[in-house]
Amino acid sequence: MNPKWNGQFSCFDLVAKTADSVRSIVRAGNVEIGGDDFVVMAGPCAVESERQLLQTAEAVAAAGACMLRGGAYKPRSSPYAFQGLGVEGLKILRKAREETGLAIVTEVMSEEDVDLIAEYADLMQVGTRSMENYALLEKLGGCGRPVLLKRGMTATLEELLQSAQVIAINGNRQIVLCERGIRTFETATRNTLDIAAVPVLKTVSHLPVIVDPSHAAGVRSLVPVLARAAAVVGADGLLVEVHPSPDQAMSDGPQSLTFRQFRDMMDDLQPYLAIRDAARQLGPQLVGARGAD
Ligand code: PEP
Ligand code: MN
Repeated sequence: MNPKWNGQFSCFDLVAKTADSVRSIVRAGNVEIGGDDFVVMAGPCAVESERQLLQTAEAVAAAGACMLRGGAYKPRSSPYAFQGLGVEGLKILRKAREETGLAIVTEVMSEEDVDLIAEYADLMQVGTRSMENYALLEKLGGCGRPVLLKRGMTATLEELLQSAQVIAINGNRQIVLCERGIRTFETATRNTLDIAAVPVLKTVSHLPVIVDPSHAAGVRSLVPVLARAAAVVGADGLLVEVHPSPDQAMSDGPQSLTFRQFRDMMDDLQPYLAIRDAARQLGPQLVGARGAD
């Protein structure tokens, strides 16, 4: 681990773990993130229609997810790609929460949208492209909702923690960190899942950490195996893309699981969650982390 971090966390002290700090539990609606439960947030990349979202919400709830994801405001690399339904999408998300009880996580891209989105979301998602949007982070400090902060695709963990610090300094310590893969020379996957980010972040910070295997992999075949890895290294949960017919999805279809595949993934995870529970009693267990040994 970065030797510079050896007890010197002044650049992110509000989110750093100290000898006497307790782990943060982040409350999003009726869900606790960072406690004993492994929290699975699932749903489509983008809200496309009421039917698409409600069907997905019911399917992921039945399979054990406790939060529904879905973007109404989409940051797309191409200006010609579907940009999301905007406020119409937020209304559909609200309806899905009313019908299924699932808490809602949805992305906010601009500080101008924070107040509006806070009326609909239980957890405000900051995407990888916005991790360094400091005007947005500052505004989220006063939004009254917890924040899901995704790691920038070219950001170090120190930079991620400094962005979390910006939200915290501005009055909001309800923050969940998310590893979603970073850009490397490797092209076999869409991004490279930095699995070490989970134990590193959990060692230096008291904030919960979840993993997004969908954007890391870019292909659905790899999502369940990366989810296993996330559970075993002690992640607090997952953010997973699921779509009723991924081949027709308006964004991120190739990495989206079908309902069936999501159910299978949740079943497949059970033994790995048992390992997680056992390992949790011990903490991240980094060699030498206590100093002399
Ligand atoms: C998403 O969650 O759909 C998304 C756009 O993710 P990221 O910001 O990690 O690319
Ligand atoms: Mn997506």
